[in-house]
Amino acid sequence: MLNYGQSKIEGKLPIPTLTQKLIRLNGLGCPANIELSFGIHSTGSCIRCPIPPCYRFMVTELTNDYFKDFPSDTSINVCPTDAIEIDPQNGVPAIDLEKCISCGLCVSRCPVKAITLTEEGAQVNDSENKLFKFTGKIVDPTQVNLVTEQFNNLPKIGVIAECDDQFIIRVYERISSKGSQFNQFPNILTRNLMIALGVPFQIRRLGDVNMRIEGIFRSTGSRIGVAEIEFSEMSSIDSPRDLLDDCAVLHARHSVPLEEIDPLIVSLRLPNKRSEYWQVIKDISNVLGIRISSITIGAMLVILLANRNLKGNIWSSFYADIDSPTIESAVHLIVGKKLCPAGNHFGWFGSIK
Ligand code: SF4
Ligand code: SF4
Repeated sequence: MLNYGQSKIEGKLPIPTLTQKLIRLNGLGCPANIELSFGIHSTGSCIRCPIPPCYRFMVTELTNDYFKDFPSDTSINVCPTDAIEIDPQNGVPAIDLEKCISCGLCVSRCPVKAITLTEEGAQVNDSENKLFKFTGKIVDPTQVNLVTEQFNNLPKIGVIAECDDQFIIRVYERISSKGSQFNQFPNILTRNLMIALGVPFQIRRLGDVNMRIEGIFRSTGSRIGVAEIEFSEMSSIDSPRDLLDDCAVLHARHSVPLEEIDPLIVSLRLPNKRSEYWQVIKDISNVLGIRISSITIGAMLVILLANRNLKGNIWSSFYADIDSPTIESAVHLIVGKKLCPAGNHFGWFGSIK
């Protein structure tokens, strides 16, 4: 168990007599609203989790019980840019706005919604209010766990952020700039977003040369998903062929029936309409019957920020090829409203040019 100097840290917990009923996420720059009994409202405030879900994944979230031979990356940081550190004096997360790309991952994972996404990046609220009071006692992990469980079970409505064009443009630029800074960034961002969206997902650990598959995930029921992650449009044509290789490895060496595999390409943006990518995907479907789905980081972000998920039997709806190089209707169906034009401009939902 991680320990952030609990002996020095005073706990802050919800007042037990005020019963929590609902969490309303209010969008960019507006703290979430916690509705209590008797028409009272409050906002979330950091309760100093001993193992903060905004900061680290728990072992159980990274456990791979669906494809045990996979050499998984074991990094446990939730923030894909390592923008979060826990202040050892008070146990509260501190966010480096220079590093924050406004992905909303930490916001989505805080049980009491003490983190808000703003124009500048994520912000943590640590002030006392009518619901959250300092206890005067050292943090008690058992009590924190009870609070976490209670808040995780509350219904949540609203959005983490409305994906308006300005916001999308800034996030896209930040992600693009980070993509070239860290080797493993595209894979870490993909894995962490998938987990936040309810999809158990593993990426190959850096430097492993015995396994070619980049990502593996638990799809619907007993199905296994296999993923290639490619941020560079120049190399996107390799991804469908790499996926064929991945399917062959899963089938021949690990006895996974071909019809039980969901192949997926994750990219920063969909390749443009003239790219050979779309024709190759159609050829593979026609000749081999293997249907390769495509999703973009932008689409995943929009789904997360809309407070939706990728659970269930959804991957076939993300199939796109030369006849219809778009995933817009699949994303639209999940998000439940019209998608922002800037996302389309960046190829997040449909192929451009
Ligand atoms: S910000 Fe939220 S998840 Fe993070 S330590 Fe505080 S209460 Fe826990
Ligand atoms: S919003 Fe994303 S990038 Fe920013 S601190 Fe949270 S997890 Fe990190």
